[in-house]
Amino acid sequence: MNILIFLGPAGSGKGTQAQYLKEHFDFVHLSTGDLLRQEVSSGSKLGQEVQSVIRAGNLVSDDIILSIIKEQLLILKDRKNSKGIVFDGFPRTIEQAKAFDIMLNSLGLSLNKLVYFDLSLDASLSRISGRQIDSRNNLVYHKDTNPAPKEAEPFLVSRDDDNVEKVKHRFQVYQTETSPLITHYHDQLLRIDCMKSIKDIHSLFDELVQSFHISV
Ligand code: AMP
Repeated sequence: MNILIFLGPAGSGKGTQAQYLKEHFDFVHLSTGDLLRQEVSSGSKLGQEVQSVIRAGNLVSDDIILSIIKEQLLILKDRKNSKGIVFDGFPRTIEQAKAFDIMLNSLGLSLNKLVYFDLSLDASLSRISGRQIDSRNNLVYHKDTNPAPKEAEPFLVSRDDDNVEKVKHRFQVYQTETSPLITHYHDQLLRIDCMKSIKDIHSLFDELVQSFHISV
């Protein structure tokens, strides 16, 4: 099973490209942000605990995140028909990365690539200002560059933490806590220039998946 980590600031297109890998190559898209937002909307104890942290643009504790990932990995490790898993937004700290390396190893799995979605703060802010999410399936759109289909329009919502102030804060948290992962995983690093078009980045993923020697 192929394992990819998607790392990059808000608005860098991780969700959009993960969706592409899911639709075209049968990858599982595992977004810790989506899982946490589901907990919040279910009103569970965990959801109540993390709601204010997410709203503030801070990181949820490593313990909580690692227990979510452990549970998901146990479910997913036997999915023989999936080509791989895209971890979108995880790991986000060196502690999470170290624990993840151990988890993968114990399951006989290893990381293929850390895909680093490189985007400046200014570009992140302008993308987030137009971001829209289909509340039925979490698909991500942008009102100018990647508009939602007409039938999805009544279901489009914005995220609580998608405003200028919060995005600036999340960018700062990303630089301090998450960007050191680029060094941690430098042997598996693939940098993507996020100013390329969505289609050009799809092509890069086509090439990457071909290099995994999997049938598509
Ligand atoms: P995202 O959808 O990836 O932008 O995540 C939204 C929010 O969920 C983040 O700003 C964090 O508050 C929380 N979150 C998601 N993934 C993680 C993680 N791996 N570690 C800590 N917090 C996370």
